[in-house]
Amino acid sequence: MSRILIIEDEEAIADLEKDYLELSGFEVEIEHAGDTGLLKALKEEFNLIILDLMLPGMDGFEVCKKIREEKNVPILMVSAKKDDIDKIRGLGLGADDYMTKPFSPSELVARVKAHMARYERLVSTNQKTNDIVEIRGIKIDKTARRVYVDGEEKAFTTKEFDLLTFLAENPNHVFTKEELFREIWDMDSIGDIATVTVHIKKIREKIEFDTANPQYIETIWGVGYRFKV
Ligand code: CA
Repeated sequence: MSRILIIEDEEAIADLEKDYLELSGFEVEIEHAGDTGLLKALKEEFNLIILDLMLPGMDGFEVCKKIREEKNVPILMVSAKKDDIDKIRGLGLGADDYMTKPFSPSELVARVKAHMARYERLVSTNQKTNDIVEIRGIKIDKTARRVYVDGEEKAFTTKEFDLLTFLAENPNHVFTKEELFREIWDMDSIGDIATVTVHIKKIREKIEFDTANPQYIETIWGVGYRFKV
């Protein structure tokens, strides 16, 4: 579940925000002072932080700056003063969004969701940067679902792509047609192991220089296939 930290000294506002966010399925924690809020933000993992500007202990400017030095978590800054919002924008403290109080709870929820989705996309894109399988002349980009053979992109159907990727990620392992069918197709899907043979043939036409003498996907007679390294 996504966790949100609210750092807000006005209890009624903090509680209202918490209620609405919890109704939207988020887990919410509240801190009422800047310094304790900062500690919690640094010590625990949150998916987003809602940070008030005027706070006891340490003001929102400082809290935002200090969180940013350590973490990329989205920060949504709120203030009762429009002027302050303009000022923090100008300071470039690294907050992701700003809201002037009072705001409607539904607007808050909408913004929280938007920032969370954006952040998750960002994080998952970064994680997937390494999601590339490269074996000799073949490069499989799992994120973009693209295959390049000697630098040239080849078009693959979904199942062809899944099958090639599975074999390439388990090089030198011999799989039976039954195993491949189970792995790539749903158990209840229409078809049989002949489907595997057909797909291997199509993949070979795209990746092999000479399909009669395959260099990548080898047929192990009477057993199945393996991706040769
Ligand atoms: Ca305040």
